[in-house]
Amino acid sequence: MTETRRIQLHLGKCIEDLDKLYNVPDLKSKRATLLCKTAQKLFESAEEARAKGDEEYSYVYYMKYLRVIAFISKDKEYLKDKNYFNNMLGPKNPNKALDAAEKLKISLIERYAKEQKAKRLMDIQENELIKQKIDENRKKAMDTIAAEPPPPTGLPGPDEVTIKSDQLYTILKNGKLKVMILDARPGKDYINSHINHPACISVPEECISPGQSANVLEQNLPSASRPVWAERASSELIVMLDWSSTTVIPGKPLHLLKTILLKWDIKVQYSRQPVALWGGYEDWLLKYPAFTTNPQAIPPSQDIMLDDMLGEIDYPNWSDLNPTPADSRPKSSEPVIDRASKSAAVELYAERSRNMQHILEQQELIADTSLTLEMQRIEAEQDWEKIRQQGETEHRDELRAMYQLREQEIISQLMQLENKQFDMEQENQSLREKLEDYQRREREEAAKLAESIARSQLTPSADNEAVATAREREAAARDVEAKRARIAAVTAQRVSLDRQREALETERKRKLAEAREKQKPNYKEEDADSYGSSTESASAALNRSQSSPNIAKVSSDEEEPVVPSFDRSTKPAKVAPSSELRQRDFQPVWADVGRGLTGLKNLGNTCYMNSIIQCLNNTAILVTYFCNGQYLEHVNRSHSTRGAIAEELAAVVRGLWSGQYRFIATKDLRNEVGKHQRTFRGSEQQDSHEFLTILMDWLHLDLQFSIKPPLKENLGASERAWHEYTKSKESLVLRLFYGQIKSTVRCCVCATHSATYDSFSNLSLELPPHASRCTLSDCLKLYLNGETIPGWNCPNCKEKRDAVKKLDISRLPPVLVIHFKRFYLDPKEYCNAFRKRQTYIDFPLENLDMRQFSLNCPGNPVYNLYAVSNHYGSMEGGHYTAYCKSSVYGKWYKYDDHLVTEISPSEVKSSAAYILFYTSCER
Ligand SMILES: [Zn+2]
Repeated sequence: MTETRRIQLHLGKCIEDLDKLYNVPDLKSKRATLLCKTAQKLFESAEEARAKGDEEYSYVYYMKYLRVIAFISKDKEYLKDKNYFNNMLGPKNPNKALDAAEKLKISLIERYAKEQKAKRLMDIQENELIKQKIDENRKKAMDTIAAEPPPPTGLPGPDEVTIKSDQLYTILKNGKLKVMILDARPGKDYINSHINHPACISVPEECISPGQSANVLEQNLPSASRPVWAERASSELIVMLDWSSTTVIPGKPLHLLKTILLKWDIKVQYSRQPVALWGGYEDWLLKYPAFTTNPQAIPPSQDIMLDDMLGEIDYPNWSDLNPTPADSRPKSSEPVIDRASKSAAVELYAERSRNMQHILEQQELIADTSLTLEMQRIEAEQDWEKIRQQGETEHRDELRAMYQLREQEIISQLMQLENKQFDMEQENQSLREKLEDYQRREREEAAKLAESIARSQLTPSADNEAVATAREREAAARDVEAKRARIAAVTAQRVSLDRQREALETERKRKLAEAREKQKPNYKEEDADSYGSSTESASAALNRSQSSPNIAKVSSDEEEPVVPSFDRSTKPAKVAPSSELRQRDFQPVWADVGRGLTGLKNLGNTCYMNSIIQCLNNTAILVTYFCNGQYLEHVNRSHSTRGAIAEELAAVVRGLWSGQYRFIATKDLRNEVGKHQRTFRGSEQQDSHEFLTILMDWLHLDLQFSIKPPLKENLGASERAWHEYTKSKESLVLRLFYGQIKSTVRCCVCATHSATYDSFSNLSLELPPHASRCTLSDCLKLYLNGETIPGWNCPNCKEKRDAVKKLDISRLPPVLVIHFKRFYLDPKEYCNAFRKRQTYIDFPLENLDMRQFSLNCPGNPVYNLYAVSNHYGSMEGGHYTAYCKSSVYGKWYKYDDHLVTEISPSEVKSSAAYILFYTSCER
């Protein structure tokens, strides 16, 4: 039977389904002759079905036939006259049927399995698609400044948030575009009058509330609106309107509606973001009354609108501010007009007001972002709950493993969101302080201004000027007040949302905490392996998580050595020879990704390792060294690690730079690391700084080569100490990462000093103990600047003296690694509990000038940041990621275990920053 002739499976889902079908009941009462006839018929049917390519029916009929035959063979009549019956049945048929049934069974089992697998694949692809869509929608909402090709004429650009009445009018008249108009004014206003267009529906503001999904909103809509609403996916342009808004103000119905559509409507992918009608229905009514259902409608009176609400705020008159100086002015004498000081005051005031505007704008932005974060958190927690439930009820191993992975993803996402919110609060706090400061000074300036104006009141020209200034001031004050009102409104909304969330989700949080606790046992080797391992049972899981056409490759080509396609045009063109002979189990998930943009699978709390590997993997010179095989000349076996750590890391780096894996597992590297350091063996969370420090030492030992020792006479103290430390053994790692610190101890009495030198592979900096914000410079100063040492044995005084210890960097490495000591032992706790300082540290992304922190070192003292190892959460239940700037693409990426995503440079600085990697090499 050829493949092409087989018809589709239709009868069952597995062979057991068919086995239920060939029961032949009620045979005892039947006579043998009759049974023989039945058997013949069954055999014929089986043959017939087989000829048609229906393997299922054919199999069922053969099996039925064989049952009947088995029954006949025990029949008394049959036993009396076997030959007769055998002839009647066809002597060869039973064997033929047996043969056929067996073959069919094998074929069917195989086909059912294939079908199951295909179905699972589809389920998963669908799941991935939904996830992708959510991501896309989210990105779209955040990414309002994405560059897109120019819009067709008449349409607002992709970045535009509004559309003018005349633009909309032209589009509607033209009739070529499918437009949907969402009228978000109160329901009764819509009924009274609205744009006369069949797809203009009422989405009453009273139905729109924050945190709503599109589904919930749909249920609240007036029934007349629903049919058009249901068509929204096919709309090419969605226009929202209220009475008079000229923009989309966060916290107002149009913004909420837009948010609901873009972020909470996962079923629909909008081709462009909804735009607001500029000036609202009022503007439309004014310009196109003929295009409305009732041109007589009257817009609501101005004073209830937000913009004009400010008109009601009472501003103090400038002249009331400080009347005393005017009164105390000597009346008899000529007025003293201090023009210089007045104009200075005005100028100063203008500047203050500009600065204040700026702060308020920033605060506004923070309030909006923090609202978005809050929504994202709710969304993430809801996602998590859903995934958790699905994971719990899922019996299929691969799917359960996938849910676990997703659960893990969401938990780490939540930790990151919490961190972001923390940073936001910090920033807001600092802005609040700045604002208070400005307000204080503003009051002072206002008092001065009032004084100077009062003094010049008698001169008419001065009077005009004063009035003009006062007007300006009043207008500015109004503006400031308007902004404040906006911020207050948005903040209030966020707070209420927060409260709502807190109330509703205490339970969810408890469960989440439980899950975080459980995370460790969940990630035992076996569990982690069930996702995407190379064993047969999990090959389906592998196929699932990548939808590239490489499915066959995954299962069959695993032994193929990994040859990264490194850009050799700019790098030494040397190919690594032998080390790839060793097989490595990368458990790869294939995808066409950019070079260096491959993720690393979490092997059970190995994010600390992954984070460090990705930071090193973005150290350009090191990558070249590993990828072009140069390192092979240096690998040596003379130390305890026997070159293996370097070899494994090189293999991982080459894998990460091949650009053909979405993510890989680093089992071999991890095993090797575990061999030499017990703490990194288990699946407990570890400190990424500790790992980095040990890894650096290992790599230096593994890649050491001897150099000719320099003549000691020609060396300064620092260089001599350096050569004593290196013992004429060098490595690329030493040259790149290792620096030297000079420590000078000076006697407080006789000023005698003594210097010692220590090398470092990273600087480990304390944080200022009580600050919630500080700068990298603060930390460096704290680290380097004097520390008093009581009872120092002064070699000159020959007595114990107080001394001061001062540090200086005496050798700057080309790659400067800086670690923040965020973890500290809480002295109040009995059982060595580590606490974490979540200080927000401001560090430069570019042009970190180390000159002020170092002695006159050779080399370039100006550094650029290229990688950050981040830590979220606490020491025990934490999570690590890496932010790295790609040397190929020049953009920043977040490496969150197996996920690699582009981020904006503005996201790089956060209170999660734990280890910074700076380079002074040209990039
Ligand atoms: Zn002394």
